[in-house]
Amino acid sequence: MKINRDTVATFHYRLFDGDKALENSHGDEPMAYLHGHNNIMAGLEEAMLDKEEGNEFSVTIPAEKAYGLRKANSVQRVPIKHLHNAKQLKNKMKPGMVVHINTESGAKQVVVVKVGRFNVDVDTNHPLAGKELRFEIKIESVRVASDEEKAHGHAHGVGGHQH
Ligand code: ZN
Repeated sequence: MKINRDTVATFHYRLFDGDKALENSHGDEPMAYLHGHNNIMAGLEEAMLDKEEGNEFSVTIPAEKAYGLRKANSVQRVPIKHLHNAKQLKNKMKPGMVVHINTESGAKQVVVVKVGRFNVDVDTNHPLAGKELRFEIKIESVRVASDEEKAHGHAHGVGGHQH
């Protein structure tokens, strides 16, 4: 069976920024996603179309189809107490470090630019914004999605949503 709209695929991946390995799912459960429902980044979903079980491939994804381009003027000053795990982070933050700010829509990854006593300047671009990324993918399985998965807009079971 080939990956297409309303199929659920499981896959293993390695993610690279140039030669630098960022993530590797091998050794863990594979990821599961429902194709055609924006479950994964646009550039990766396009590359998955028509692949089938056992296929291995490498795909390079431009920034605009991965985590987006970097936005200018995105440095914000935030109180340190608004950071996730603020107590543990106090006196340990350095420029370049990735931290999480608590926002109304959940925790958001930001990069520390400058640390003050009570405030920290952070770049709100995603740490991987503006980067061309490369994935090495191995398709583990492809199946038809259940009606429930289609209604929910995501995959269930191992590697997917558990509820
Ligand atoms: Zn669900």
